[in-house]
Amino acid sequence: MRLVFVGPPGAGKGTQAKLICERWKIPQISTGDMLRAAKASGQLPEELVKQMAAGGLVPDEVVIDLISKRTQDADAKEGFLLDGFPRTVPQADALDRVLESRGQKLTVVLALEVPKENLIERAVLRRTDKRTGQIYHLKYKPPPPDAEAHLEHRPDDHEEVVRNRVEVYEKMTADLLPHYEKSGRLKRIDGVGTVEEVTARVIAALEAVR
Ligand code: ADP
Ligand code: AMP
Repeated sequence: MRLVFVGPPGAGKGTQAKLICERWKIPQISTGDMLRAAKASGQLPEELVKQMAAGGLVPDEVVIDLISKRTQDADAKEGFLLDGFPRTVPQADALDRVLESRGQKLTVVLALEVPKENLIERAVLRRTDKRTGQIYHLKYKPPPPDAEAHLEHRPDDHEEVVRNRVEVYEKMTADLLPHYEKSGRLKRIDGVGTVEEVTARVIAALEAVR
């Protein structure tokens, strides 16, 4: 299975991706996580650090290069789940070309749909355990006491930046979702409800296309 998760910041892509990847034993590939790891090890150019901190997108070439290399790793041979990539039509076209050159294609693109008012609350109260990458929410998925000292509040998860990220997302998907819809590869998933309810919808959508 070669899957793409599209959805605004805070929609629950990372949360659902982890569960789906465990179930189907495929790697979760998140350009956001890869960029944050590059930043943490001091390898991300300062200009890109600034673009991320402001909630803007980094240039297409940067993420296309990351994905084209990462999807060639041995663990991605039988499939993968892309989380947060592609975000633009040029990224989507580049992904198609990379896969086509390897005789592969995407199975399906899942769009997680969540209204704006829920997104801000989901992202602003998100906390991630630095040691494990486990995603928590201060209201909906409270971290256990022993994780508290290790929680990270992403610098781009403050309200003003989240609002900007949601706006950037809306502008970019104005083209991206119709692009995938036209080629019959898009499935829309209602992302409102408990994590378990949304997972059940995602699994049902995937069972229908496998
Ligand atoms: P994304 O990867 O799309 O930015 P995350 O998976 O990190 O989103 O989820 C954003 C925040 O919302 C996290 O704090 C997560 O725990 C919480 N969350 C995820 N799914 C749900 C849900 N169905 N209901 C309530 N909160 C959720
Ligand atoms: P995410 O973790 O998916 O919310 O991504 C965090 C930030 O990383 C985004 O706000 C962008 O600055 C950058 N980023 C991640 N994926 C992409 C992408 N596919 N294209 C451009 N920028 C990206």
